[in-house]
Amino acid sequence: MKVDWCWACKREHPMLDEAEFDAVWRAYREAEGDRFGKPVGLVGTPQENRERLLRLQNSHMSSSIPPGATSRQIRYQPLKDAYERVTGLKFEGDDPKVILHYRCSFYGPPCPYCGRLLRNERAKQCFECGMDWHDPAKIVCHRKP
Ligand SMILES: [Zn+2]
Ligand SMILES: [Zn+2]
Repeated sequence: MKVDWCWACKREHPMLDEAEFDAVWRAYREAEGDRFGKPVGLVGTPQENRERLLRLQNSHMSSSIPPGATSRQIRYQPLKDAYERVTGLKFEGDDPKVILHYRCSFYGPPCPYCGRLLRNERAKQCFECGMDWHDPAKIVCHRKP
């Protein structure tokens, strides 16, 4: 796990390598539903589901479901838990689903000029610092006044 600048979020956050991401991905798949398409453990009314999850949490889940959590936050709680287990950090966002792009392979290599991660591995320009190296003989910077 490393922390790097994310061009999508416009801030730094952890990025997981493939093995770390795999644990998070499996938790996500589980939250999304089993192979029959039914959400695992979430088959009742929202109220029932919340109570059920709270019971589960009291028995063996480590992290807490905040008061006033949305059904989406409750549903993706296992994803958040997996992320927190893997990184040892607390997830601060509102929507655990954003964790699905916290993955090294989602990004390109670092920009040779500013060091921030490029949008993909074939990128020939950087949207963070404005450098453009499509033509290696004529590198330009779009940010210059
Ligand atoms: Zn991001
Ligand atoms: Zn750059």
